[in-house]
Amino acid sequence: MDSTEFRKRGMEMVEYICNYLETLNERRVTPSVEPGYLRHLLPTEAPQEPEDWDQIMRDVEDKIMPGVTHWQHPRFHAYFPAGNSFPSILGDMLGDGIGCIGFSWAASPACTELETIVLDWLGKAIGLPDHFLALKEGSTGGGVIQTSASECVLVTMLAARAQALKRLKAQHPFVEEGHLLSKLMAYCSKEAHSCVEKAAMICFVKLRILEPDDDASLRGQTIYEAMEEDELQGLVPFFVSTTLGTTGSCAFDNLPEIGKQLQRFPGVWLHVDAAYAGNSFICPELKPLLKGIEYADSFNTNPNKWLLTNFDCSTLWVRDRIRLTSALVVDPLYLKHGYSDAAIDYRHWGVPLSRRFRSLKLWFVLRSYGISGLQHYIRHHIKLAKRFEELVLKDKRFEICNQVKRQPQVIHPVSD
Ligand code: PLP
Repeated sequence: MDSTEFRKRGMEMVEYICNYLETLNERRVTPSVEPGYLRHLLPTEAPQEPEDWDQIMRDVEDKIMPGVTHWQHPRFHAYFPAGNSFPSILGDMLGDGIGCIGFSWAASPACTELETIVLDWLGKAIGLPDHFLALKEGSTGGGVIQTSASECVLVTMLAARAQALKRLKAQHPFVEEGHLLSKLMAYCSKEAHSCVEKAAMICFVKLRILEPDDDASLRGQTIYEAMEEDELQGLVPFFVSTTLGTTGSCAFDNLPEIGKQLQRFPGVWLHVDAAYAGNSFICPELKPLLKGIEYADSFNTNPNKWLLTNFDCSTLWVRDRIRLTSALVVDPLYLKHGYSDAAIDYRHWGVPLSRRFRSLKLWFVLRSYGISGLQHYIRHHIKLAKRFEELVLKDKRFEICNQVKRQPQVIHPVSD
């Protein structure tokens, strides 16, 4: 395909996407297909010769679409929201067109620098403390885009593990790392997302899953008692993953209580997973829900869940970027560059070497809607949730469980 044909096909594709989204409500939300349905419709081998584009697109409609679950459908209410918007799609399209691989500053300076700037913008809008912002005078922290919240939890646990092992090795220089590793204990609530369990599996550490209170909120005293008990058993608490907005019921762990209790266990890494609800903190009236963040070592939220940005875009901020990267730095000669000391190289902030230009779409979204537009979007969703609550309360077949947060005073009331 040359650029002339790409222009033509690109316009057709935009037209196809617009039609798809405009007529989505006419489709079934979930497909009515059985496992293996596609195998019966597609050949077993890749085509030897080039195929006609129109035929490929016909197959999209006739064979692929019947097996798609339509996450953007107005009646899709499963799992969690999948953010999307036209500015985000266009930002991703441009990133794909540029096609750079931004693993270091030198590999594509704009890719790295825009990510740092946009993460500072969003971090400020959320209300994160200054030490999480890369460009704040004297700050040691900063933000990075990861593929998913699961990856954010994994890399922070890896960093916490590396720090804990370093401390233990200094105290017990003749004990083998494997033995020290067997002593490490991570903590989370029963309501935490399963990605914490997965991260512990990958990190090869023990995980203690704690009982939250009746409102599904993990409390400081519970954490304290568990950690003290474990220390008496000779184990070493090193990581706590809390959740602001749990997957099951959007419950909030009691971060101020947990943060205070962790002061008694120096060196334990406190992570805050706010994959879904964290986006809402851009609204001033919801910032009180972020109370306790001053104790945290890291915080993640997914604009690809509730901030009009399409997957993938999971934003992670850390208090101390050296503590994060020291667990992940491998620096072969062929990746070094002349500005290694002065610039951020995001390859040290996560698992993959290669990275897409993901900050572009977030930049497009933040600029196209402005913080005020995004606040309006969040407030409208909360209003819809309240409307849903009213309907549930009116229907005797249902009950509302747990404590539902009354909506704090909305400074800018939302019209319909
Ligand atoms: N954490 C929380 C609180 C979630 O709700 C979810 C997904 O629903 C995740 C983590 C995992 O998100 P991801 O799919 O980005 O790994």
